[in-house]
Amino acid sequence: MSIDQQDKTLLSFKCPVCGEVIKFTVEENKIKNDPSGVCTIPLLHNPPNYSPHLIVISIDPHGFVRSAYLYKQLYVIEKTGEEELTKLEKRIEEAKFDAHELALSKAYDVLKETYKIIQAFQMKYREDLFLEILGNTIIHHVIKGGKLRLNIPRDATLSEISKECVLKVLKIFRIDADLYYGLGDTVIIKHSEYPIEFIRGILNGLLVKIGDYIGQSLMLVTESLNPILFRIEPYLP
Ligand SMILES: [Zn+2]
Repeated sequence: MSIDQQDKTLLSFKCPVCGEVIKFTVEENKIKNDPSGVCTIPLLHNPPNYSPHLIVISIDPHGFVRSAYLYKQLYVIEKTGEEELTKLEKRIEEAKFDAHELALSKAYDVLKETYKIIQAFQMKYREDLFLEILGNTIIHHVIKGGKLRLNIPRDATLSEISKECVLKVLKIFRIDADLYYGLGDTVIIKHSEYPIEFIRGILNGLLVKIGDYIGQSLMLVTESLNPILFRIEPYLP
């Protein structure tokens, strides 16, 4: 292992379950070179005054935690917690691999047959959470492979980004969306046959790419589930 690969980054974020700020380290190499563009990892959180929980977080190549979800609430920690964590780690690696294979598979047209890809993926992965990995992976490959080109001026405003890029990409994926009451930073998903976690994966992955392009990190906030509203905000450290 080279010295590079041993470089670790210290990250912190607020636990979505108990609210405690969790600090942890992750290999820089792992977040910079994730095959899905966004690195998804599980963490076992065992705070003193709360029952232990397994959470899954996604981290972009810049080291920003983009999402954090509860995977499972545990009641007995000891060995079980570690076992569950190892199991989940393995499952996430498998899901990443399968998502990658599907995104690059010649059997599907990734833009026209997205729904078929989702269905194939769901045969093996029933938990919604993994669909976000699939969304990340698909958008990553579609942009990387040049099937979809981002054309945004570097000085574009948030409204321009939403209108000219985010809505257009959603349309290409046949997701019916619009700006919510004309708000430049909020997108409403009006209709889609895709699960919301998949759409979230697409949007999160897309914002990582747009952020790289314009030199400003953009975060996705799930504002509401009914109606489905996603807000885009600049990352302010
Ligand atoms: Zn917690």
